Amino acid sequence: MKIIDKIKKHKEENGATTPFYSFEYFPPKTMEGVQNLYDRLGRMLLLEPLFVDITWGAGGSTSELTLEIADTAQNICGLETMMHLTCTNMQVSQIDFALAKAKESGVRNILALRGDPPRGEEWKKIEGGFAHASDLVRYIRQHYGDYFGIAVAGYPEGHSDATSLEDDLQHLKTKVDMGADLIITQLFYDVDMFVEFVGKCRAIGINVPIIPGIMPIHTYAGFKRMTTLSKTVVPQHILDALEPIKDNDEEVKKYGVNLCIEMCKQMVAAGVDGLHFYTLNLERSVRKVLKGLEMIRPDQLHRYLPWAQCASTNRL
Ligand code: FAD
Repeated sequence: MKIIDKIKKHKEENGATTPFYSFEYFPPKTMEGVQNLYDRLGRMLLLEPLFVDITWGAGGSTSELTLEIADTAQNICGLETMMHLTCTNMQVSQIDFALAKAKESGVRNILALRGDPPRGEEWKKIEGGFAHASDLVRYIRQHYGDYFGIAVAGYPEGHSDATSLEDDLQHLKTKVDMGADLIITQLFYDVDMFVEFVGKCRAIGINVPIIPGIMPIHTYAGFKRMTTLSKTVVPQHILDALEPIKDNDEEVKKYGVNLCIEMCKQMVAAGVDGLHFYTLNLERSVRKVLKGLEMIRPDQLHRYLPWAQCASTNRL
């Protein structure tokens, strides 16, 4: 089912003020990592996320594995799955292959992205390829009609290549005008900035759901790496709180969970449709955040469904 339809159904069944949650995963580098991820998906499905999504390595570097994991998540685990797809440094034939495979697997949702260049390389449009995510959205709608639900990326602080936040918002609007039905944001730690961003989107006629992308802080080093990579502004009070505990992993994790709960509460109060967690393929912190938000039932915390059982129950 398309995520946009699942959101409508969720609202009908749970009321407009009860947000859904969803989880992002990335393809691990080793086969052992893939098996661990499958075990994790088996456990996380008990939390009943509205959907899960699987990232796509820059330039198609993980394409086979992303397709395989998306197929497994959708068909063996029975999780509504969205596959990321980038169009930078990719031939149109590779994009066609990926879309056809996703359709063959019954995956109904694509997160259409421009993508970043592989590390150390400049961003470039390849001959006959796409320049912007909006080109990919247009292409998917032209070739697949309404089969896919299409999500696109939004940047509350503005994308780092953008000439201005206003220009970036207009480009976001173009993606929606081309047929995207959902926006998922880049991670951020300033909720006021997110709320302002949503207001600006609404003011220029972007009316699709805007789902905040949330990354709980797991370790200080990881947090610094991710926020540097995504050029995320970190409010001073967070830096101040982390400074004295930065060498104590347990304390950082605990702080990360509490901060995330507070941020989510503010976003729920602001009326978001859902909370999208960048899990980094981990589960403890997200589970604790959802528990802190009282969004999961006690039985969902204790039951354990290992992969073998997940495969044999075949929830489809
Ligand atoms: P676009 O929407 O094309 O925007 C890129 C830049 O171009 C922006 O500055 C925009 O303002 C500008 N622009 C857009 N259209 C025009 C136009 N017509 N004229 C001039 N300028 C224009 N990367 C991966 O490699 N794999 C992933 O799986 C992945 N998942 C992601 C998931 C989310 C939720 C987010 C937020 C990001 C993800 N990324 C991923 C990173 C993403 O690929 C990069 O941020 C990339 O630099 C921009 O992608 P985009 O789709 O936002 O690009």
